[in-house]
Amino acid sequence: MTVSPDRIAAFRAEIGGIACQDQERVLQVKSKDYYWYSQILTEQLDGKLGQILVLPTTEAEVVTIAAAAAKHRIPITVRGGGTGNYGQCVPMEGGIILDMTKLNRVLEITDGRMVCEAGARIEALETAAAATGQMLTMFPSTKRLATIGGFMSGGSGGIGSLRNGMLRDGGNVTYVRVVTVEEEPQLIDLHGPDILKVQHAYGTNGIITAMDYALMPFVDWQHTIALFDGYDAALSCAADAQESGIDAYLMTVVERRFARFYKRVAEYFPSDRDAVFAMIAPADVEAFAAKVVAHGGHVTVSKSLPDLEAAKLPPTWEFGWNHTTLQALKHERGEWTYLQVAYPRPFDPALALRQQQRYGEELYFHHEMARMDGDIQIFALPILRWTSRERTYEIIEEMERLDGCTIFDPHAITIEDGGMKEIDTAQIDFKKRADPHGLMNPGKTRGWTADMAKD
Ligand SMILES: Cc1cc2nc3c(=O)[nH]c(=O)nc-3n(C[C@H](O)[C@H](O)[C@H](O)COP(=O)(O)OP(=O)(O)OC[C@H]3O[C@@H](n4cnc5c(N)ncnc54)[C@H](O)[C@@H]3O)c2cc1C
Repeated sequence: MTVSPDRIAAFRAEIGGIACQDQERVLQVKSKDYYWYSQILTEQLDGKLGQILVLPTTEAEVVTIAAAAAKHRIPITVRGGGTGNYGQCVPMEGGIILDMTKLNRVLEITDGRMVCEAGARIEALETAAAATGQMLTMFPSTKRLATIGGFMSGGSGGIGSLRNGMLRDGGNVTYVRVVTVEEEPQLIDLHGPDILKVQHAYGTNGIITAMDYALMPFVDWQHTIALFDGYDAALSCAADAQESGIDAYLMTVVERRFARFYKRVAEYFPSDRDAVFAMIAPADVEAFAAKVVAHGGHVTVSKSLPDLEAAKLPPTWEFGWNHTTLQALKHERGEWTYLQVAYPRPFDPALALRQQQRYGEELYFHHEMARMDGDIQIFALPILRWTSRERTYEIIEEMERLDGCTIFDPHAITIEDGGMKEIDTAQIDFKKRADPHGLMNPGKTRGWTADMAKD
């Protein structure tokens, strides 16, 4: 289903001088994200194309675009860096691709907070924060391309979540400004818990133009690799470090079978050892090293980011969370996909070891330490040797039934079938207000049905 060329032309005439592009090659690139990690999504989404790309530079231009889209009833898919993993940026019914990356100004930085436009790249925000002696409370490892609005709308947490919780946890974001998609768009400011009305809503219920983000005093985290003679020892060391309050921004436990993908650190992570990749506060480097030794391991790297760069080594965040999958796919594309697993609390390392044994060569594991609602929460994003859709869902069902794990399905295109599991009625109620014609990112929420649209 796409929009007639006449309606696209009428829309284009209506938005006057706002930059737009419609070359086939551009539309092809800007209609994709990283859904290719999933063979299931690739089959479903390849070939879906937007019909016109618009690039506003101000909020006023966003308002003009939203009004014209509503008037001509054209679907509109908002796009930041396009690094989402679940086809969140794929225009299922053609129409407009709204590229937010030119709306990228930092509006204010104070102690503990920054306010910025939603299309700002996260790495640029990090640089701006660093100039004031501060850093972001968390970021995805795609920060060079990813935008803050895209993280808010499509992400969940990442590097820093061990210390500062998940994105939706209190305080990380406290303000969001939204443009509605209707003939006369409104500007809505959401504060405090109300921001959850649009968080992780995949751009289905309003265009975020600005938001705030929490900052913390800058820490010169020491990027650390520690090796162990067994995955159980690596897991226990990471858990012990957490329980004893070692100050860490990242802690990822990676099994030895990943070593063949991690060629840039081959010297420090050989294939006969399991590893912990961590970012440790300078004051706790010695205490962490002592823990490593107590668990029979040894530290092979402990460097600040500038020292790592001088040694031509990559940062440790490129070896955790979903960057692990990218490392595997770089070497063996097509052979692997992945799962997203949340473990029951309190975490039992024995369960992780049982899963490793049960799945043998089918799954390679790494475990991510994070904090959710104030408590330690362990996730895994194991890579899965691709065989079939049936086998993928058999494993998902087994891990949920036998192990009590929750799987955030990365092979699903709707919010509900992926991470959220159920329809968020507050988000749907907000959609009725912010997108009354149901034009935003169609097909991405099961909570919206055609009969809800205003004529
Ligand atoms: C290697 C790799 C590692 C990753 N690691 C992490 C991680 O650690 N944590 C994590 O949470 N994610 C991770 N991701 C997923 C993704 O990179 C992040 O969520 C990222 O922040 C998305 O930002 P983006 O600008 O690329 O968003 P996009 O992909 O452009 O958009 C994501 C969603 O947000 C919507 N959207 C974008 N901008 C707006 C806006 N201004 N208003 C309304 N809706 C909007 C889009 O419509 C889309 O539905 C990873 C992905 C890859 C490929």
